[in-house]
Amino acid sequence: MNAIPSWAVPGAKAVCVADRWNLTCDELHRLPMIGEVLTVEGCFEDERGGGLWFEEIPVHQGLCSVPHYWAVEAFRPLVTRSQEQDMAIFRPILDHVREDA
Ligand SMILES: [Zn+2]
Repeated sequence: MNAIPSWAVPGAKAVCVADRWNLTCDELHRLPMIGEVLTVEGCFEDERGGGLWFEEIPVHQGLCSVPHYWAVEAFRPLVTRSQEQDMAIFRPILDHVREDA
């Protein structure tokens, strides 16, 4: 897949689901951790897929002059649904269960 998913827009919340970072830089001290919720600040697409960076994690760290981004595959959108949206999903199921009873 060679595209940034549609959820990965600035301001979106992302959950880190993988932390096997291929680190080649000694200056990185702040890394996304599994289960951590981060706020997307920006994204880019390249031939390897795409990268994200986050408000909570500096792109430049320590003495390193190279910006660091994080593979988009390592993140999923944080799902935030309202109670109303939940009911819209569950009501047809509940109605169906009642019909069967
Ligand atoms: Zn670096």
